[in-house]
Amino acid sequence: MNARKWIQAGFIVAVCIAPLLLPLYQVTVLNYIGLAALVALGLVLLTGIGGLTSFGQAAFVGMGAYTTAYLTTHYGLSPWITLVAGLVFTGGAALLIGLLTLSRLSGHYLPVSTIAWSISLVSMVGEIKSLGGHDGISNVPAIPLFQFQFDTPSRIYGLIWLSVGLGMLSVHNLLNSRNGRAIRALRAREGMAEAFGIHTGALKIKIFVHAALLACVSGWLFAHLLRFVSPTPFDFPQSIDYLFMTVTGGASSIWGALIGSATLALIKDQLQNLLPGLTGSGGAAEEVAFGLFMIAILHYARGGLASTFAGWLPARTPMTIAKDTLPLPTTARVDHTGPILQVEGAVKRFGGLVAVNEVSFELVRGEILGLIGPNGAGKSTMFNLLSGAAPLDSGKIYLGGSRIDGMASRQIARRGLARSFQHVQLISSMSLLENVALGAHLRSHAGSLASILRLERASESSLLAQAAHQIERVGLGAYMHAPAGTLALGQQRIAEIARALAADPQLLLLDEPAAGLRLQEKRQLADLLKQLRAEGLSVLIVEHDMEFVMGLVDRLVVMVFGQKLTQGLPADIRANPQVQEAYLGSVA
Ligand code: ADP
Ligand code: MG
Repeated sequence: MNARKWIQAGFIVAVCIAPLLLPLYQVTVLNYIGLAALVALGLVLLTGIGGLTSFGQAAFVGMGAYTTAYLTTHYGLSPWITLVAGLVFTGGAALLIGLLTLSRLSGHYLPVSTIAWSISLVSMVGEIKSLGGHDGISNVPAIPLFQFQFDTPSRIYGLIWLSVGLGMLSVHNLLNSRNGRAIRALRAREGMAEAFGIHTGALKIKIFVHAALLACVSGWLFAHLLRFVSPTPFDFPQSIDYLFMTVTGGASSIWGALIGSATLALIKDQLQNLLPGLTGSGGAAEEVAFGLFMIAILHYARGGLASTFAGWLPARTPMTIAKDTLPLPTTARVDHTGPILQVEGAVKRFGGLVAVNEVSFELVRGEILGLIGPNGAGKSTMFNLLSGAAPLDSGKIYLGGSRIDGMASRQIARRGLARSFQHVQLISSMSLLENVALGAHLRSHAGSLASILRLERASESSLLAQAAHQIERVGLGAYMHAPAGTLALGQQRIAEIARALAADPQLLLLDEPAAGLRLQEKRQLADLLKQLRAEGLSVLIVEHDMEFVMGLVDRLVVMVFGQKLTQGLPADIRANPQVQEAYLGSVA
């Protein structure tokens, strides 16, 4: 066993025996750390990884706490039943809030609205008589388990830390799955995720609900630990503390939730002990000292304390790639025998600029069509129109005979279109294998719950095997488990092709795939594309390197200033004086 393993084993043993050895007060502190860690864990998923900020987590804790307090004291229900009721209620509330805020609006709307609804909810509870008003609800019973009662801090300790362990496992399992890869794309690569069929809006709502449910469990335990609830602990300032914990610990690390909540609890505890002796007053001095602490931590441990202690925490082990997996289903094929792609009079304006102006062309099944033109001609914009990343102003686009203009890019992905991006869109912290597996997202239907319970291992193995196959195929096998951000730019472009191939497309759109490649790599890429053509794949490629393009494509479409200048065979295009002029003109 190496030092890292010893530290981890020691930690787990310490957590298990702590209530036997420590005085009651310290067991209580550990209980509060566990309760806070559960909430912070949700925020790691939501904020640290998903990139969505919520200032309302304490209100979800309150929903869990009040549901159980009210139902156990008024109706004598078992806390186990009220746990389920709390999860349903809190999950439902989060779903509703998510539907109202997340799917329509992004940016600052979510953080601001979470502040608003959480403050109003807590004030409202303070006014409701049957919920005890500001005095709250007392005489909440202990949680029973057969004859046993979790009626002291030492007894409920096990339940709290079991919940923390299960919560961490649930987030860990979720992140290492099909939906987890999609969640990790939410923060910075939303457009890419949509291009591979991921419904990012729905996914945001899912992680919002997941975080709320973790908060609800914390609230349930809190109510039965304290045996009393009142509005104050669920108010806005507590939500800020949860965010502090998450950031302090390391917003994108599961262990960060634990480290952050422990650090904050210990700092607060020490300040309460020390400060009154030093200054003669509590309150304000404590807040100021706490603020200074926070600033220092944020300054010196930017990635949070989890990155400072990364050497002690469990390392990410490379994922295993199984050999004998079931093949993934191929995506739906249409029987349409006409052109795979037809563009009729496509127009796209940006304000006064007409980036694509009445462009029409076709792509015959099984051909490689080159789209060339000087910088700013509108090629990338055309790609965005084809893949649904941007809407057309007018015109029609048909894929396999059916109209796709007006569809969202995730719907177009379902119809067999996959693309690469001119500006590489990999998730740099995620391994190459996982990045490419994201391309095959639509070829499995494993849900989040199945992932959390590890019931989708066969389908997950197939996804990873498919990704590994495509990585080998494009010649990046040596980098399988390397974080994508560590690859050279040329390799990242090739990785984008592997990701697109993992989707099993009928039509592949490549935006400047050869940029930044060395001569040898360009030759390999050309060979690969020719092989794909031989297998029946249709390819539309934008490329600046004329040598590369001329030796590869069947036909070319030339765009200049948003318009189609001409189209034809490579030799004809090369000899066309208008084309030569357009290129020379753009250089001059
Ligand atoms: P190409 O890929 O052929 O170099 P682009 O399609 O990227 O050209 O750009 C075509 C024109 O549209 C350029 O003048 C560019 O500045 C403009 N353009 C592209 N995207 C946008 C956008 N999102 N907003 C405003 N103008 C844009
Ligand atoms: Mg471009």
